[in-house]
Amino acid sequence: MTTAVNPGALVPFPRKGIREVMSETWKLTHQQEWISLFRFLISESINQWNYLIPRSTTKFYCPICDRQSEAFIHLSNQTRFSWNSVCPHCSSRGRHRALFFIYQGYLRELPLNAKVLHVAPEPAFYRILRGGPFTYHTSDFYLDDVDFPREDIQRLSFKSETYDLILCNHVLEHVPDDQVALRELFRVLQPGGVLLLTVPGDFERPETKYFGHLNYNGHYRDYGRDFLSRFRQVFPGGDVADMASAHPQRNIGVRKGEWLFIGKK
Ligand SMILES: [Zn+2]
Repeated sequence: MTTAVNPGALVPFPRKGIREVMSETWKLTHQQEWISLFRFLISESINQWNYLIPRSTTKFYCPICDRQSEAFIHLSNQTRFSWNSVCPHCSSRGRHRALFFIYQGYLRELPLNAKVLHVAPEPAFYRILRGGPFTYHTSDFYLDDVDFPREDIQRLSFKSETYDLILCNHVLEHVPDDQVALRELFRVLQPGGVLLLTVPGDFERPETKYFGHLNYNGHYRDYGRDFLSRFRQVFPGGDVADMASAHPQRNIGVRKGEWLFIGKK
């Protein structure tokens, strides 16, 4: 597998035709995922309506591909709707569009000869990460087109105190023991280094939802507000920022309450 399968792959998001809609409907029915099916039918109906009736307004801006859109594509799963989530031109999600601005602030502050590690890298960020005045490494467990393939985040091969900045989006929900993974990220950070981490969840909800098994999209859990205290057990003084305020002047389609976890060593 390559990074082309990652969200944020920098490729146009494929529109679902009637065949894909029928196939997804059948799959969710077969799996008896009734809530997911209900949400899918609503969000995809609105997408189809938007494809059919194009409007001339340019309401949303995507900084990843520097294009405007009448609407972003709505997604849903068993836990929530994600309205105006995906840029149709480059597949970026809200978190990518917000982090595009946030990352640049942190990159400017890096010390000389800094090393940056990007776990499960999204090509959406390559424009700002490749060719900068720092060493940039990518790693993943499944993907082959990275600098360090087959890296298990629960048991990283890197020496302690290697990286000045670690970027990691939507990985921990796929990992059996996320606390061990956090400790590994802490271990490989340099003193003074920073981890910028996102995980899927509803941070208005007090508790993390544990599925007890891998759910249909490969997640062990959907995070709640309690994750902050578990994050702080590994990163004392760890903090969060609401990514919706990453670019207050333009509508980049970021859901309010999408948290960025910031850990410093
Ligand atoms: Zn885009």
